[in-house]
Amino acid sequence: MVLAGRSPASEVYVRNKIKTVSEAGCRAELFRLDHTATLNEALALVRTLNADDAIDGILVQSPLPEGMGKDAEQRVFDAVDPAKDVDGFHPHNVGLLVQKRPTLVACTPLGCIELLEQEGIPLRGKQAVVLGRSDIVGKPMALLLLHRDATVTICHSRTEGLAALARTADVLVAAIGRPAFVTRDYVKPGATVIDVGINTLTGKAEVDGIFPEGSRKRVQFSEKGSVLVGDVHPEVQDVAGALTPVPGGVGPITVAMVLRNTVTAAELRATGKAAV
Ligand code: NAP
Repeated sequence: MVLAGRSPASEVYVRNKIKTVSEAGCRAELFRLDHTATLNEALALVRTLNADDAIDGILVQSPLPEGMGKDAEQRVFDAVDPAKDVDGFHPHNVGLLVQKRPTLVACTPLGCIELLEQEGIPLRGKQAVVLGRSDIVGKPMALLLLHRDATVTICHSRTEGLAALARTADVLVAAIGRPAFVTRDYVKPGATVIDVGINTLTGKAEVDGIFPEGSRKRVQFSEKGSVLVGDVHPEVQDVAGALTPVPGGVGPITVAMVLRNTVTAAELRATGKAAV
């Protein structure tokens, strides 16, 4: 894992990943770059890790320090050996995903599919609506659903008639980064709703506007001064057939998929079957 800079949120993410990976019996190592490090230093580190045969998977924690420049993240992700790209962000792996060929796939959408499959939620022939079109969640999510024979609609900030489109979904995936945005009006009764969003609320009025008096979240907020909320409003649990919790839903399964991808990458490299 490569961590550049001093973002407290990134420190927490990296610590959690290292703990989970280590507990599962893999060796996890953290390579730090100072917040003043240059793009060339980051690229040089990635090349060193690419060349190290003992390393099967490379994760570069986002965001990189602003000083590295606007397209730094893309340049660093592109520099990762596709065979070690356990985040599934490399254009080579994205291309293989588009063609439905075996590859390392982005961990969050992969985790969402794992949840749906483990719960036996039917996808073939069903309407799936994905809210969000980012490269790391929305687009790969839509492709994975398409490859399982769902009929997929991708929505974004310019979509007209969002609620009505969302209401057509048998499976609705919310990945927009807007706290409690998806209210009951967006959900067909009985639909399966996957809440990818992770938003931190620090304002009392906002928390009180979403969570009812006496709720666990309000208590949490008064104790900690912040609470996590997804992109889906808690009222949706009255309408949905199934709804993933935040936290404790997509987050942990995403980390599990990092592990799965690492094992896959190790096996592919060990057997000489890596795609590149
Ligand atoms: P992102 O890159 O900011 O993309 C957000 C997407 O949502 C964009 O496509 C944007 O549309 C769309 N959007 C924003 N506001 C909208 C609106 N009002 N109506 C419709 N669409 C709207 O975010 P991301 O990286 O995909 O992440 C999305 C959320 O998932 C965030 O809360 C993030 O923290 C969370 N996340 C969680 C995990 C996990 O492990 N659980 C992993 C990754 C991300 P445009 O393209 O038109 O701008």
